[in-house]
Amino acid sequence: MAQQVFTIGKEFHWEMGHRLPFHEGGCRNVHGHSYQMRVELEGLADENGMVVDYFDVKSIVQPIVDKLDHSFLCDINDEPMVAFFKEHPMKVNYVDFPSTAENLAKHVLDSIAPLFGDYSNLHRITVRLQETERTFAEVSLLVGNN
Ligand SMILES: [Zn+2]
Repeated sequence: MAQQVFTIGKEFHWEMGHRLPFHEGGCRNVHGHSYQMRVELEGLADENGMVVDYFDVKSIVQPIVDKLDHSFLCDINDEPMVAFFKEHPMKVNYVDFPSTAENLAKHVLDSIAPLFGDYSNLHRITVRLQETERTFAEVSLLVGNN
């Protein structure tokens, strides 16, 4: 009999400031978003009918969300902002990429994927990051045996 593959998910949210220095429109200005994120795990269920305990999903993902919450996501190549934060220390997360929704979704996925390494029943991990009510970026990683 063919095996059934389940998808489970948990949603997270945080507030964060950023800007896109390369952008020619409004996104080059300092602004923020109420980010909404859905982490989806696709895989086989265990004998109890569970893919991954939602509690474990939260234990793995929430620390990353807490680190980002109420911070400014600063591209290390954004010289004016780097200089500003050097002068005015506050909660900032430095990254080596432009802070687009795509790059941020990939950053979260890269951060959490190794932490799900013990779950050999997983086939795919997906991060869907909603930057505004109407826009999102989604990235997924195939893991284990598919
Ligand atoms: Zn933005």
